Amino acid sequence: MKQSVYLDNNATTQVDPRVVEAMLPYFTTKFGNAASRNHAFGWEAEAGVDTAREQVAQVIGADSKEIIFTSGATESNNIAIKGVAAMYGDKGRHIITQKTEHKAVLDPCQYLAEKHGFRVTVLEVDAQGLIDLQQLRAAMTDDTVLVSIMHGNNEIGTLQPITEIGRLCKERGVLFHTDACQTFGKVPIDVEAMGIDLLSCSAHKIHGPKGVGALYVRRKRPRVRCEAVLHGGGHERGMRSGTLNVPGIVGLGRAAELCREGLANGEVQRMAQLRDRLFQRLSSRLSDINVNGHPTARTPSNLNVSFAFVEGESLMMGFSEIAVSSGSACTSASLEPSYVLKALGVGDELAHSSIRFSLGRFTTQEEIDYTADRVVAAVEHLRKMSPLAEMAAEGIDLKTVEWAHH
Ligand SMILES: *Cc1c(COP(=O)(O)O)cnc(C)c1O
Repeated sequence: MKQSVYLDNNATTQVDPRVVEAMLPYFTTKFGNAASRNHAFGWEAEAGVDTAREQVAQVIGADSKEIIFTSGATESNNIAIKGVAAMYGDKGRHIITQKTEHKAVLDPCQYLAEKHGFRVTVLEVDAQGLIDLQQLRAAMTDDTVLVSIMHGNNEIGTLQPITEIGRLCKERGVLFHTDACQTFGKVPIDVEAMGIDLLSCSAHKIHGPKGVGALYVRRKRPRVRCEAVLHGGGHERGMRSGTLNVPGIVGLGRAAELCREGLANGEVQRMAQLRDRLFQRLSSRLSDINVNGHPTARTPSNLNVSFAFVEGESLMMGFSEIAVSSGSACTSASLEPSYVLKALGVGDELAHSSIRFSLGRFTTQEEIDYTADRVVAAVEHLRKMSPLAEMAAEGIDLKTVEWAHH
């Protein structure tokens, strides 16, 4: 296999050709402004948007009137968190979230704490990345207006107990927002059964185009209101002004529809099976590797593995034709271990030896087998040069070794 293998689908995905096909007419002949009410060009564009709204709503058991189109999940999260804080700030000024959220949730919460005097509780997670429901219950007060807990984690795949979280929020009359970028269309979601009031998703994580996403905002029991972040023409029920990105929205709708088919026809199970096959092929040939995240409650696309005694960045250089992510985040000065892995209590050493493989609709068994072979060879090669790996192989317990300090 000479061409490259793409296993970084949690970062972004290839646009499905069927999505491109659905979008194309909205660049050329159907180019109207969906807000133009007085001619056919506008009606045509609006019809495309209406269909997309329906397609997105169906994936999560919502009504199409409850879908707001945005520029992506970063914006959806910002509208949900800052919009609820602004609208309900008189009722209460406490928000609850958790440590392994995407920055697009953590940063708006931090902003509200620093600039608007909100109190923000950031719940800890256990070694598998799960929050503790008792801690969530204990954290809720009469002052709490919003709980924002993601569905599936983008780095480690762990699925939070959304239904139980939704139930606790309902009991206390607290609004519940979930960032569902990694699960929308890949894990069954029902906003009614799960008690979700606000939900974010993004097209480019589901084989749709970049720069478009959606926010579900509940309209009944209770009717949720969000203060606008962008002010202008009053589009999207006043919550998100700006001329709609019609081709992008049509693409998101088609991508959502294809995901719904994929959930029904076994495509998602196939992805999970390939993911398991990859781990099986690695773990049967390599010692000292372990999965980060929850062993079973995880998204179907994600496998995050630590390879003890090797450095993730060096490892990735050993198979540069395979696109994956490492457990290190590049900051300006240095390589920092991922804050998500840190939150699980994974040591810096192991975090730096972690690789995230994330699969998509177009991942093949041939690519998985090829990847397993290449990763095993690269790990074995690096371990041959590692004194630590050699000592471990000789049965020396590394914890008993006395290191010389400089
Ligand atoms: C990708 C991602 C985001 C950001 O989505 P954009 O559409 O790129 O802004 C937010 N949260 C999670 C969990 C993600 O995976």
